[in-house]
Amino acid sequence: MAMSWPLDGVYTKNFRTTSSFGWRIHPIKKTRKHHNGEDLISISHNPAYLKAIYEGTVIEARPAKSRYASGEPKGYGYFVAVRHKIGGKDYVALYAHCKKGTFQVKKGDKVKAGQVLAIMGTSGFSTGVHLHFEIHVGKKVGWSSNGSGFLDPIPFLKSLEAFDGETSKAWTPTPENSPTQDIADHSVTRPRPTKFSAPSTKPKLQGWLKVGSNSEAVAYLQKALGIKVDGIFGNGTKKAVQKFQEASGLTVDGIVGVATWPKVVVAETPAPAKDTKPKLTKSLKRGSRGAQVKFLQSKLGITADGIFGPGTQKAVKAFQEKKRLAVDGVVGPATWGAL
Ligand SMILES: [Zn+2]
Repeated sequence: MAMSWPLDGVYTKNFRTTSSFGWRIHPIKKTRKHHNGEDLISISHNPAYLKAIYEGTVIEARPAKSRYASGEPKGYGYFVAVRHKIGGKDYVALYAHCKKGTFQVKKGDKVKAGQVLAIMGTSGFSTGVHLHFEIHVGKKVGWSSNGSGFLDPIPFLKSLEAFDGETSKAWTPTPENSPTQDIADHSVTRPRPTKFSAPSTKPKLQGWLKVGSNSEAVAYLQKALGIKVDGIFGNGTKKAVQKFQEASGLTVDGIVGVATWPKVVVAETPAPAKDTKPKLTKSLKRGSRGAQVKFLQSKLGITADGIFGPGTQKAVKAFQEKKRLAVDGVVGPATWGAL
């Protein structure tokens, strides 16, 4: 199950955002309005092909119904909408302002990830060649004045990409599309879950987190939600996720997927005031503990738990590299002085 970005190349390198998802002043109407999609332009591809982000079914490939006096469509202009089932949930990806006469698909077509749908254009209510790209939760093309029902496309695509890297581990298939997997799951004795502590940096999501999940990502989620951290997703975690989803305006299903994960953040420990820098009594390295390590971690912007582990070592090396110090992952007087 591959995914594709809606345009060729790498985001920010070959194509970029000109207007993000969220509240903005409308470029033509000059009124404050919620932008329910992401406006993207191509940097290196002309013509720019608009591509399906995932396998799915084309539900619209047509001009918008309202028309200018010239007969050309207003609003979305010529647009394509594709319905995707991802992790058992329905999403509609919409591509607006396509170039007239460039549709490569029609309503009802099944498409694969990366399949060309049309060419980028400026039809409809648009000031220049760009793609207005939306992700709407559900089975239909949506509209709302405040963004409800829509997802921020860039974090959505990034999460989808993270899933894509580890396909076999990533997917918890729904019973109807993978009966063998489901039967196998029930016939084996499940191993006792392993306990995890929360990693200092947010891990990539490599599968849906739900009851039965057991990983570092679950531990991170629990820490972010302020509940007991053991890396084991049980009913208590599910309840906390549901509460969080409700408060964040997400679909309340107790499952952490591409919509919920980007909003899960562990609050950073505030750095201590400058005058509290402790004296370095000996070099800090893997296995070191205490107030000096805590200070070091807060200066490096990582979780300050006072334990010098692999994450801290990595952050120290990155810091040393940035400061052009000897990169050894050990904090001696030179590195300490540079903090
Ligand atoms: Zn737009």
